[in-house]
Amino acid sequence: MRYEVIVIGAGMVGTSIAWHLQKNNSKVLLLDRKLPGLETSYGNAGLIQREAIHTHPFPRQLTELVRVMPNRGTDIRYRLPAILRYHQALLQYWKYSTPASVKKIEAEWQTLIAHCTSEHQTMITASNADELIRRDGWLQLHRSEDTLKIAAALAISDREQGVEHKLLSVEELKVLEPNANFDGFVGAIHWLNSWQVSNPSMLVKAYAKNFEDMGGTIQEKNVKEITPDDSGDGQGWKVVTDNDTYYCDDLVVAAGPWSNELIKPLGYNLPLFPMRGYHQHFKTTGKNTINHSMFDMDKGFVMGPMQQGIRITTGAEMTTMDAPKNFGQLKTVLKLARKILPLEEAVESEAWAGSRPCMPDMKPVIGPAHKHDKLWFAFGHSHQGFTLGPMTGRIMEELIHNKPVIVDVEPFNAQRFSKTK
Ligand SMILES: Cc1cc2nc3c(=O)[nH]c(=O)nc-3n(C[C@H](O)[C@H](O)[C@H](O)COP(=O)(O)OP(=O)(O)OC[C@H]3O[C@@H](n4cnc5c(N)ncnc54)[C@H](O)[C@@H]3O)c2cc1C
Repeated sequence: MRYEVIVIGAGMVGTSIAWHLQKNNSKVLLLDRKLPGLETSYGNAGLIQREAIHTHPFPRQLTELVRVMPNRGTDIRYRLPAILRYHQALLQYWKYSTPASVKKIEAEWQTLIAHCTSEHQTMITASNADELIRRDGWLQLHRSEDTLKIAAALAISDREQGVEHKLLSVEELKVLEPNANFDGFVGAIHWLNSWQVSNPSMLVKAYAKNFEDMGGTIQEKNVKEITPDDSGDGQGWKVVTDNDTYYCDDLVVAAGPWSNELIKPLGYNLPLFPMRGYHQHFKTTGKNTINHSMFDMDKGFVMGPMQQGIRITTGAEMTTMDAPKNFGQLKTVLKLARKILPLEEAVESEAWAGSRPCMPDMKPVIGPAHKHDKLWFAFGHSHQGFTLGPMTGRIMEELIHNKPVIVDVEPFNAQRFSKTK
């Protein structure tokens, strides 16, 4: 079977790419070993983060490193095998995290974030998915006057970038969230123009359904191998799954944290590394209903109102993709969360875990592969791939169809790491 474009990976990123290409008259096949939106794009905190104009640099201050080292924190944990396996990527991450480097990276990153809500809106409208979206922002809670003061000053300067906020006292918080106990908190930033999705997986599925309604094809297949195919006129691609072979002109790899597995045999070795997160839902009752997602800034976890219940989402655990789940971080987080809201009945018997696909320079790879024609990469969106899927979809469509591109894509090229000294 031959298609104009095959997209591998039906997470938020791959589904959005397939949607844009199909809408613009390509014949597209979207391949995933699972149904759309069942991996990282399933388990995230569901925030479309217009406020996320700052990246997550590697901690460089000694005090911060000393805080993380004992491995008991709620925001970040690590396992030694992962440090060893990804040490080169981590070293690059450290190097890219100087203040001067972060300033440049953030300016590039912001070109993507600026379009995140408008690009989602286009797809939400087309997919009739409005009921999944709440547009009344989310709450960044602070336990310390110091961190609140710093965050408030930054939020004021972020206004220049179109990020809207309101500084809230504890009394104002109580009005917004009467069921929550804010003992120990000193105030919050209410990010006003970011959005909350009540079921992230269902949003991906809505986009995927609209892609099918436009004539796109989805196949649930595990891709084993991709190879150049020069049997036809000009260069194309052959995609081998467990039991089928597909052919296409252009091939897009959007397989999130698994992307490297597919492209390594072609001679690419990008410094992609996973940052795991866990979530668990608790049954919503009259006593714990909340209206906004709440992020405990000083402890690094999110409590979000989802269709499945209150979703408690942890910060990052640096571990390998295949490592068994370790619920230590989640357990500590749950102790803190239960002081804020009554969380009595867990919905799942075992917590979900998934991995943010991260790059050392905190920017995704979006663009052509540099060693092959008609091969395209779109992965590494780390903490904001759910936010940036539709924007990435638009960029990839414009690139593949050789149109003027909405932003300068040079900062996101796949070749940039081979230039690192
Ligand atoms: C705890 C947590 C909280 C987060 N919160 C947020 C948030 O609030 N907002 C936000 O913007 N981002 C958030 N993120 C990040 C976001 O979830 C990810 O960046 C995003 O989901 C990545 O999307 P993706 O499409 O690249 O990858 P995925 O959603 O993982 O999709 C990749 C797909 O590729 C498929 N695949 C892989 N290999 C193969 C193969 N060989 N054959 C066939 N299919 C294959 C997989 O099955 C998968 O479906 C969070 C992440 C975590 C872990």
